[in-house]
Amino acid sequence: MSSSTKAGEASAATVGTTGIAYETIIGLEVHAQLLTKSKMFCGCSAAYFSAPPNTHVCPVCLGLPGVLPVINRAAVEAATMTGLALGCTIAPVNKFDRKNYFYPDLPKGYQISQYDLPLALGGEITFTVGGEEKRAGITRVHMEEDTGKNMHASDPLTGEGYSLIDLNRAGVPLMEIVGEPDLRSPQEAAAYLTAIRQILRYIGVSTGNMEEGAFRCDANISLRPVGTTTFGAKVEIKNMNSFRAVERAIAFEVERQREILDAGGTIAQETRGWNEEQGRTLSQRSKEEANDYRYFPEPDLPPLTMDESWVATIGAQMAELPAARRARFASQYGMRAEDARTLTESRAVADYFEAALGDNATAERARLTVNWVSGPLFARVNAETINATPLTPERLRGLLDLLEAGKINRTVAQQVFDDLFDSADEDAAAIVARKGLGLVGDDGAIREAVIQAFTANQQSVADFLGGKTAAKGRLVGATMKLMGGRSDAKIVNRILDEELEKQRQG
Ligand SMILES: [Zn+2]
Repeated sequence: MSSSTKAGEASAATVGTTGIAYETIIGLEVHAQLLTKSKMFCGCSAAYFSAPPNTHVCPVCLGLPGVLPVINRAAVEAATMTGLALGCTIAPVNKFDRKNYFYPDLPKGYQISQYDLPLALGGEITFTVGGEEKRAGITRVHMEEDTGKNMHASDPLTGEGYSLIDLNRAGVPLMEIVGEPDLRSPQEAAAYLTAIRQILRYIGVSTGNMEEGAFRCDANISLRPVGTTTFGAKVEIKNMNSFRAVERAIAFEVERQREILDAGGTIAQETRGWNEEQGRTLSQRSKEEANDYRYFPEPDLPPLTMDESWVATIGAQMAELPAARRARFASQYGMRAEDARTLTESRAVADYFEAALGDNATAERARLTVNWVSGPLFARVNAETINATPLTPERLRGLLDLLEAGKINRTVAQQVFDDLFDSADEDAAAIVARKGLGLVGDDGAIREAVIQAFTANQQSVADFLGGKTAAKGRLVGATMKLMGGRSDAKIVNRILDEELEKQRQG
């Protein structure tokens, strides 16, 4: 971490027609659904995504009067692990609060969230922009519940608009990761988000799927003249459904605010929505202050006391984080930084690589495995599909065993790789045996071919003996051809040398 730069330190300023240079200040709020079986405060299934509307509901998540919420232990574990992974301090006591607002998809009229005593505080994350490692602060991680979903439609006959409400999502465990306003460009924002999602996926607490709404992001953006330290009025942007949208929306918003400031105007503190089709942000409402929500402690839930040893156990169970694994791959396997980055991009790929490599592998074998995973394998799979083919890591290892032992050559290995990829019936050794693809290591057969090659290429033999060493290449080629390409090049060379020596003396 010491080698990294604080985000934004080397970023260019935004300069408009007036020549005033502005610094862009960005802070992101990430909402991630937690991968638990049940909802945050009731036993309903949290796997709501493709379920028929309003089938994963009960009196608790429907917000009916007289019911009592119960905290989901697995959700607390997942959020705690996230806090630890982001280098936060886990608060010994945290509590739930009611965030009051009225909206049709919020049947209780309030959302249970955490306000002044959140679960985790004060972390940091590193990410890479343009090959440079940067870091940004994490303000806090807190737990809350998701809302339902409104669906807007219109009657096909009358054209009259109406809305439907699906409460399957209401009460799904959610955590909010609030970042410090440390980001200075749309590219930094996208890289920060990518790094957060990578960590959540590594530790298995969220799918991180943005298209399904399991991973969402709001961006707070303001500008200030370079050299000043007070923050300008900030605008919150919502409705960004992809990493690309986050970058585009921020870039648009920076330009919009700069034009207003250059024209002598002031920025209204407000919430704006990103419109993907129009490629612009549109005003939605003036931004609420925290006191608009009339937060107060949730009277139905006691404060949550975090047992220190329980937190330590969660930390111990946590998977190795991407940055640590990247560093280990580089040092343990002598990998180039670029390869280490590629192979740790997703946990599935990193796990596959290490399983294919096996224990106690040499540096040479590690290089061979890197080449086959990042070459032929990546030509056919990605992180999502790597475990869905017949080519298990163990079967790839079997193929590389043959290649490393010189029993097959590179061309044959590619052919067997394709067979292994398409069918799980045989292992590499069985395919090589059945198809007769093994290299001929038999001295007698190779010597016979060498002698035949000499007879057919007497001029080359003479050239070699006359001092033209390059002539040997033609003899190797001729021998290989006679052997149908399946002889071991090392043995061919050795026997050729022996036979050439005999010719010289004879
Ligand atoms: Zn429920």
